[in-house]
Amino acid sequence: MFYVVNKKPSGNEFERFRTDFFYDDSVKTIDAARCPKCKSYIGMREPVPPFRVRIETWGTGFGDFVFWLDDFLVSKRFRDAYEVSGLRGLREFLPVEVLSCRKHRKHSEETPLYFRTIPKLGSAKIDLAKSGIDLGEQRELRCDVCLSGPGVLKRWKAVVVDESTWNGDDIFYAYGLPGSLIVSSRFAEWAANFEFKNLVLEDAKFSSHDFYPNEATGRSS
Ligand SMILES: [Zn+2]
Repeated sequence: MFYVVNKKPSGNEFERFRTDFFYDDSVKTIDAARCPKCKSYIGMREPVPPFRVRIETWGTGFGDFVFWLDDFLVSKRFRDAYEVSGLRGLREFLPVEVLSCRKHRKHSEETPLYFRTIPKLGSAKIDLAKSGIDLGEQRELRCDVCLSGPGVLKRWKAVVVDESTWNGDDIFYAYGLPGSLIVSSRFAEWAANFEFKNLVLEDAKFSSHDFYPNEATGRSS
């Protein structure tokens, strides 16, 4: 069983520790990762150190996870726990320099030490059909490694990992939906013990998204 990290959970309980960030304009980037087979870019351009960031909190304290698009930071508390957990999937933890912190609601918590890390890409493939992935009108052949193709990703109904392609990583991005941060049930059980703030996991079977909610699909499910 897999879970997807909900980066923008709604509801008071979850928003208490909502924390976002963005990179300062001085941070340089390099090209995104490429598929080893078709060489198409996967995901976003990669920031390179030094990572200078600006953080915003929306509730009454800092999250252990801090999100910006498909990128995220983790607190020292998370890093220390993860490093002795035996879990797999994250690359090295690199320190970030927090240039500013904007608190939308007043609180007196001190800014934790944060680190940037990225999960491995391609630890599994998404089952495109079972996930109900809609690529619009274009239905040309897709690369059999990264599953990317010319279509525009419009929506998906679930995040279904093709388990026969999974390498056992506990936190990862899968080919087919490289923006969805997926964790194993082992990770979910481990994380629940620590009650990490701003880490909200949802059952991958119910993790859907629609970039074009106002568009009639002409299909019913
Ligand atoms: Zn490819």
